[in-house]
Amino acid sequence: MYDLVLRGGTVIDPSQGLRGQLDVAVEGGHIAEVTAEIDTTGAKRVIDISGRTVTPGLIDLHAHVFEGVNEAGVQPDLAGVRAGVTTIVDAGSSGAATFAAFPRHILPHNATEVLPFLHICQTGLATNPDIIAAASIDLDATLRVVAEHKGLIRGIKARMVSPALDILGMEMPRLAKRAARESHLPLMVHIGDTQKRYRSDVIRELLPMLEPGDIVTHLFTANPGGVVDGGGRLVPEARELIDRGVWLDAAHGRLNFGFDVARRVLDQGLVPHCISTDLTVPGRRATVHSLVEMMGRFLGLGFTLDQVIGMCTVNPARVLGEQERLGSLAVGRQADISVLDVRQGDWVVYDTVGEGMRISQALVPVLTVKRGQVFEAEWGPHAWGWEPAGYLAP
Ligand SMILES: [Zn+2]
Repeated sequence: MYDLVLRGGTVIDPSQGLRGQLDVAVEGGHIAEVTAEIDTTGAKRVIDISGRTVTPGLIDLHAHVFEGVNEAGVQPDLAGVRAGVTTIVDAGSSGAATFAAFPRHILPHNATEVLPFLHICQTGLATNPDIIAAASIDLDATLRVVAEHKGLIRGIKARMVSPALDILGMEMPRLAKRAARESHLPLMVHIGDTQKRYRSDVIRELLPMLEPGDIVTHLFTANPGGVVDGGGRLVPEARELIDRGVWLDAAHGRLNFGFDVARRVLDQGLVPHCISTDLTVPGRRATVHSLVEMMGRFLGLGFTLDQVIGMCTVNPARVLGEQERLGSLAVGRQADISVLDVRQGDWVVYDTVGEGMRISQALVPVLTVKRGQVFEAEWGPHAWGWEPAGYLAP
C-alpha cells in the first residue's frame, strides 16, 4: 500500500484552499491521498504528527548554496531538507565561468532540489564585489553556458549595486535582460545598492525594463535604489508593478530588509508574492538564520499563517513555472512536504538596519519529505535551536 502516511497533522495548503486535520499518504514519490483518517493497513511507514502543521514543501526563492566554490555558499541540505525547505533557488552564485561545478560537485550530493539562476557576472559571486570591470560580463559565454545546461539553469541574475553600476550604468541590467530574453528565461534583479553609492532613482529606469515573469528581489531594502523615494512614497514605476505581472520577492539577506520600508510599501498596496532568505554562511549565523524565521517576521508584519505559507509554496512554484509539480499537496504532485511546529511566545527579531520587532508566533521545522524521502530537521542556526532570540526587557 502506501510508502508513508503522515497522521494527525493540520494541513494548510493554500494552492487548494485546503485547511484541516487531514492525513497525507505518499506512494512512489508522489502525493497519493489527503483525507481525514487514512487507512494505514499495510503502510510501510506511519509517522504520528499530531499537533503539527503540514504544508507543501517550502520553496526558498533566493539563497546561496554554491558550497565549496563560493566562500559564503551554504550546504544545500543544511538550508534545505534539514531546515524544512524542499526546494532552493540558487540566486546567481555562479556565472558562466564557474557554473559547471553545480551539476558536477553540488547537485549529486544533496537531496534538496536546487534550481540555479546564472549571474550575468561570469565569476558569479565568487568574489566580492562581483562585477569589477566591463569584461566581468561575457554575454556570449553566458548564452553558451545556458544552452549547454538547458533545463537546469532557470533564470538570469543581476545585482543593481556599485561598482557594477559605476562601471557600466544601465548597460549592466540591459545585458542581463538580453541574456534572459535570448535564453527564454526570467530575469531576477537584486535592488538596493549595499555600497550606498549609486543614484537612488536608478530604480525608475530599471523597473520599466522588466517583463511579466521577471522577478524583483529585496523588495523591502532600506538601501538606495529601493522602491520608495526619500519621503517613503512608492516611485510611480513601482506602483505600476501591481498590475504588470512582475513577481515581487522579499529576500531578507544580511543587508536588504527594513521593517519600516516594509510597512510603508505594504500600506501603499504593493505586496510581495514570495518570502525568501538570501541565505549565506554568515547570514545563517547572524541576521537571516532560516526561511522559517523569515516566515515568523511576516507573521509579525501582520500576514496570516495561510498567507505566509502560500508565499513560500504555491507562489514561488508559480514563479518557477512548476505549479503542476511543486508547491501543492494535490494528489499526483511530487511528494514534497514540510511538517512544522507553530509556536506561541515572545521573541524579538531585527531587520538589517537594526530595528527590532517583537513577535508572538514562530515556526520551527520538524520533518521534511522530499520526493517521498523523510528527513529530520537538524539542530538549527541558533545555540538554542530554531526559535528567534528571546525578548529581553530593556
Ligand atoms: Zn542573494
